[in-house]
Amino acid sequence: MTHTSIAENERIAVFPGSFNPFTAGHADIVERGLALFDRIIIAVGVNAAKGESDADNAVEAIRCVYSGEPRVSVEAYSGLTVHFARERGARFLLRGVRSVKDFEYERDMAQINSQLSGIESVVLFSRPELAALSSSVVRELAAYGEDVTPFLP
Ligand code: ADP
Repeated sequence: MTHTSIAENERIAVFPGSFNPFTAGHADIVERGLALFDRIIIAVGVNAAKGESDADNAVEAIRCVYSGEPRVSVEAYSGLTVHFARERGARFLLRGVRSVKDFEYERDMAQINSQLSGIESVVLFSRPELAALSSSVVRELAAYGEDVTPFLP
């Protein structure tokens, strides 16, 4: 009989994104993902054009949100998401969809990632009240001096 440790059976999901910034919509996906997975690694993609400091700032901010949640960790990464997931022993990618526009993109990514690696994508529909919320809207409102705290976790 082979010995399998609990760690090997652990359900680890990588939740990849730009998170610029991390919004209440992202936080809702993490919260609901915690009902499905043992651990979630929030993976902040390093945008080659913008450099590492943006991602590092996002990592610090998101870590503050989850400082009391040992099942959530936060890291910056570059390169292919499935390579990062494999390195971390994650068998799942977690993503969210708000609309048909998101749906087609998420479906294509899920199919490519599955073909590349066998890693399964678990895609959650956004809560209706969060479906219009995006990082780009938050950035735009902030640029014009609006209070964006209602949109952030
Ligand atoms: P990316 O640049 O990879 O799309 P984002 O940071 O914009 O990264 O989003 C990461 C994931 O979170 C994506 O799957 C996106 O569809 C999802 N997401 C973003 N905003 C929301 C929201 N308001 N509700 C649910 N899912 C969301």
